Amino acid sequence: MWMGDCNGINLLFKLSIPTAEFDFLETFTTTPESLLDITHLYIRSNHKLARSNLIQETENGIKRLSINAIHPLTDRLLPIFINDEADYGPKIRANMSMLNVQIGTPKSNSYDESFANKHSISTVIDSSTRWHKMDTETLLSELRSRELGGYRTSGKLSDWCISRQRYWGTPIPIIHCDQCGSVPVPENELPVRLPSIENIRSSSKTGISPLANAHDWKKIQCPKCGNENAKRETDTMDTFVDSSWYFLRYLDNENTEKPFEPNIVNKLMPVDLYIGGLEHALTHLFVARFIQHFMHSKGLCTSLEPFKRFIPIGMVQGKTYKTSNGQYVTKDKVLTIDKNTMIHSLTKERVEVDWEKMSKSKYNGTDPQEIIDAYGVDFTRLLMLNFVHPRSLRNFTLEDGIAEGLQNWFKIFINLYVELIDPRTKTDTKSVMSNEEFQQIELALREQRLNTIYTVTFYIDSFFSVASAIIELQKLTRYLRKVPINIKRESNEYLRSLCDLLVMIGPVIPALSSELWTILQKQIKTNINGYDLSKNLFEQNYPSLPNDYPAKINALYDTTVFASMPIARSLLPTLTTTDILQQLNNNDNQLQMKTFIEKNGLKFDRLRKLDDYCATLIYERDPNVTIVEQSEPLIEKKKSKTSKKKQVS
Ligand SMILES: [Zn+2]
Repeated sequence: MWMGDCNGINLLFKLSIPTAEFDFLETFTTTPESLLDITHLYIRSNHKLARSNLIQETENGIKRLSINAIHPLTDRLLPIFINDEADYGPKIRANMSMLNVQIGTPKSNSYDESFANKHSISTVIDSSTRWHKMDTETLLSELRSRELGGYRTSGKLSDWCISRQRYWGTPIPIIHCDQCGSVPVPENELPVRLPSIENIRSSSKTGISPLANAHDWKKIQCPKCGNENAKRETDTMDTFVDSSWYFLRYLDNENTEKPFEPNIVNKLMPVDLYIGGLEHALTHLFVARFIQHFMHSKGLCTSLEPFKRFIPIGMVQGKTYKTSNGQYVTKDKVLTIDKNTMIHSLTKERVEVDWEKMSKSKYNGTDPQEIIDAYGVDFTRLLMLNFVHPRSLRNFTLEDGIAEGLQNWFKIFINLYVELIDPRTKTDTKSVMSNEEFQQIELALREQRLNTIYTVTFYIDSFFSVASAIIELQKLTRYLRKVPINIKRESNEYLRSLCDLLVMIGPVIPALSSELWTILQKQIKTNINGYDLSKNLFEQNYPSLPNDYPAKINALYDTTVFASMPIARSLLPTLTTTDILQQLNNNDNQLQMKTFIEKNGLKFDRLRKLDDYCATLIYERDPNVTIVEQSEPLIEKKKSKTSKKKQVS
């Protein structure tokens, strides 16, 4: 599979003496016009032939094979060298080129020329042959007729072996017939359904699919010639075949006629946000994009790409204890001697602490049910969403007072709502406060409330940082707690803040928030702008910012806002990227901004406008700049002091 243009052709070279594993060497070239100029081949040191007993050392210390490749047209014998320095073409993943065989054409390539000179490869090309009278297209068609390549393809082409020896998988709809070979199952017999069998485990020893034992299912008549002894394919497809387009099926999941109706899926695709683990980023994303590109080329999908944005979420890790020989130790066998020393309680061996992916064999798993039983489901959600950016690894622990710290906040938060019905506050005598004072406090409260809405929205919109949003909501909670009792009793602004807080924290702790909302429904007798208290929490609108609240220009790198300035909201839509950059550069933060950019080796990448309240200038690492020191993402700086977790962004 590949994506993008077919920018070259494939070439097959027969070997002068076929080996047990190879009859051919296959490669790819973007310059088929130099086909007749090939004088030698390179293979990488990771090629199987480079590890065989065919290796000879030449005078100049370079290794070559004792067998040759044969030019697919001229039959010239081409020496094969083991060489990792040649250009093997585009890389599809880090350090991984698609090719491990490459052609040498000294006539048109200077590296090949000097290589040929150094290793005494004859560069003489007999240009009097009949091939030289033909144009490239004719040569390619000759290659195709000889079955030695000549097809347009991509340098990024990679194999995707889709067959698996598993029961659970989509059956491969092929019938094998002795007379006809591989015959597709007729369309009206699709889908092929899995038979019900007792033992669905494949034997790892034989490597044969468990379906091979379903003899009644396996035996079938050949749809082409009627042969009674044809056999169904017993391998099933790789799960990626299904997961590469499940999101299309989800949009039309009751369709009994076809996988999906294009008119339905095209209204909703592409997916706005795709959240997955790192393994998704590598394999699933590639396969899903490949299938979507295919569907697009067939006119089934209007969008070429399946996903607009992707967050590779970090893994949850647990604490492990390991002896020097790598043996994992359960926590109860670890004795703490001092801050830096832990030993095995029985063997007295020194034990090292690390954070690793949770696993039974490493004794570092945490059962979510235990936490839910101890703290409740909302609090467990809060624990998981707190502190860490979604992309970062989460080193999960209940040590270091993390749960206690959160519980304190939880109590303050709940109390804000409970005190609306608490008789103690009702009997409290009213303290004296002038109207002016009252208004001033209300105004400050409004500022705090709007600032929270702005920041929370910005964090979620910009980089889905629920953890940063929670920090802001905790700040608002603490602010509201300290508000004078008169304000709590009489200010509409205060009640509105309570509504805003619940609506914004609702998705994080939904059960508790809904519960607290019912208090507001009962206790608030006045009309709160923007809210309908007759409806439940999750039917409320997300809080909005008033027109007099200024918009902001932010400079963002990763999850850090390193410069920010207010700007009139009405002005924002009229500004171009250059205007916005200029505004920020002329601002008071200028020096601080410059320092941050230099320190982190950044360059401006793009502008992202979020509604009308915010313009974000996104900075990325400048690959041409080497930096000495690494920056810390925002969340790490704001992390609770008691947390000593190692976090990777
Ligand atoms: Zn047949």
